[in-house]
Amino acid sequence: MLDKAPNGKVSNLLDALDKALSAGEVEDAVDLFQADCYWRDLVTFTWNIKTMEGKDQVRDMLKARLADTQPSNWKIADGEDASEADGITESWIQFETAVARGFGHLRLRDGRIWTLLTTMSELKGHEEPVGFDRPMGAKHGAERNRKTWKEEREAETAELGHTRQPYCVIVGGGQGGIALGARLRQLNVPTIIVEKNERPGDSWRTRYKSLCLHDPVWYDHLPYLPFPRNWPVFSPKDKIGDWLEMYTKVMELNYWGSTVCKKASYDEKTHEWIVVVERDGKEIVLKPKQLVLATGMSAKANMPKFEGMDVFKGDQHHSSQHPGPDKYKNKKAVVIGSNNSAHDICAALWEAGADVTMVQRSTTHIVRSDSLMELGLASLYSEQAVQSGMTTAKADLIFASLPYKILHEFQIPVYNAIRERDADFYKRLEKAGFLLDYGDDDSGLFMKYLRRGSGYYIDVGASELIANGSIKLKSGVGVKKLTEHSVILSDGTELPADLVVYATGYGSMNGWAADLISKGVADKVGKVWGLGSNTTKDPGPWEGEQRNMWKPTQQEALWFHGGNLHQSRHYSQFLSLQLKARMEGIPTPVYGLQKVHHLG
Ligand SMILES: Cc1cc2nc3c(=O)[nH]c(=O)nc-3n(C[C@H](O)[C@H](O)[C@H](O)COP(=O)(O)OP(=O)(O)OC[C@H]3O[C@@H](n4cnc5c(N)ncnc54)[C@H](O)[C@@H]3O)c2cc1C
Repeated sequence: MLDKAPNGKVSNLLDALDKALSAGEVEDAVDLFQADCYWRDLVTFTWNIKTMEGKDQVRDMLKARLADTQPSNWKIADGEDASEADGITESWIQFETAVARGFGHLRLRDGRIWTLLTTMSELKGHEEPVGFDRPMGAKHGAERNRKTWKEEREAETAELGHTRQPYCVIVGGGQGGIALGARLRQLNVPTIIVEKNERPGDSWRTRYKSLCLHDPVWYDHLPYLPFPRNWPVFSPKDKIGDWLEMYTKVMELNYWGSTVCKKASYDEKTHEWIVVVERDGKEIVLKPKQLVLATGMSAKANMPKFEGMDVFKGDQHHSSQHPGPDKYKNKKAVVIGSNNSAHDICAALWEAGADVTMVQRSTTHIVRSDSLMELGLASLYSEQAVQSGMTTAKADLIFASLPYKILHEFQIPVYNAIRERDADFYKRLEKAGFLLDYGDDDSGLFMKYLRRGSGYYIDVGASELIANGSIKLKSGVGVKKLTEHSVILSDGTELPADLVVYATGYGSMNGWAADLISKGVADKVGKVWGLGSNTTKDPGPWEGEQRNMWKPTQQEALWFHGGNLHQSRHYSQFLSLQLKARMEGIPTPVYGLQKVHHLG
């Protein structure tokens, strides 16, 4: 008789799935899925990051990949129980493939699979040295000419990149490069991180003075080494810089600071990159098999070109170059733009006693930090979540288990609730002339981030200054030109200015490929980021996953890594396993390599 308790339902389903897959009976396996099913695979079946939507896509993938993958041992994850609510049965699951161990998440509706997440935890025979397998550190016994840990580290540093080539070079040593470097170190993949700034953490330190992380601590942990329990909720930028520097040291990363990657090209014959870097004024050529661009999605400044910029006599710079407000007391500041940086910079300038005007050309999504924390993130990333047993790894996987295709449906009610809760706040902002939006389909901040990576401000105080007129606002207008001492707007308004800050955002990571490799490779790879949602700045067709991030691209051996701290932590696991498998010569046939629909 069929067991109707949650554990029984899940076990029955997994047994049937195991049986069908082991027997190579694709149709029997497909029958276990709902018509509107989603199977998101992080590297286990597809050697890709891919969501199969609907039974046909599940069938196609299995037909292509089942024989190689040889999945087995599907069961409820050790120590876990299935649960049931609102007609959905869900469970953590584990399984194996021929070469890896996998962990995942399952949701059943009406006894069939609605969502399935399969993720690679480790490659068999290449497990990370943890727990019982942790390194001894000391070498007991006696040995002539033995080397200490320090001497071994020094020898490695002297060799790698000079007499021995790294397998992987990561360009960009911000949190993205550092998190991936840490994972590759644990997997014993010789790697050099190349960073043009002097010290790890400088990409945060060099940002404007008042910056604190907008995401809370529970969302921001790095792999292996969580922040201590007394770490502030919102890290000040210099503090996160110091953490990254400490992390780089204790995780024993080969980090080449003050080193600029000047160019890179791929030798199709040797399957090797030729990466030219400049270190201490000296050119060095590195020849890795894999090249990762972790150069930042918020690092390639979009600097607008306006008539008169060359005659303007005051200070003018992109927000990424803004030094902070100290020298602008009693000065007139005009900030072009209305997203996160613009708000933070306006508020800091106002605090320092400047006369500040924000110029808002188009609508912006604003969400109050408190509301976002409570209604948007609390169930997965908060102290309450921690207290109720939620771990970072589980939170990341639950988030990953929600298919992008329907993620907005989960987000819309959250932002509707936020709009209701903060109705008075939004009314006052509108009254001050601020142009609001909530995303093209009212799905709010997170979808905007995934789709276009811009267009919002998490309010930590600047909105009140706009609502009460302390920060002046000109909305619905653009910049026509600059004169020696002012900014002229498209409606003819003249704003006297001693300082103009262009908080005009950042260009696509694709631009880095064009700069460092070639326009040809950048075009071959196409746009980086976005889902193909056919919303503003994220043109269709639907891609199902973020373009080019953390997965194989149309250019052999070229990878993109980055995103916020959560994404860097989570997806570095899957990118590191893809790189490790290649280094070990494990076959990695990529299923469903994305097509390119848009250039950078
Ligand atoms: C104002 C602001 C606020 C933000 N707030 C948050 C937040 O609260 N939470 C969050 O998670 N994210 C936040 N972000 C996004 C933030 O940019 C990223 O999370 C983070 O910086 C991304 O890390 P990264 O390693 O991918 O890129 P970056 O930190 O941008 O690092 C890229 C690195 O590449 C280096 N580089 C580039 N080209 C070369 C080259 N040719 N040679 C050598 N080195 C090179 C750069 O020097 C840089 O250090 C914010 C961004 C900005 C601008």
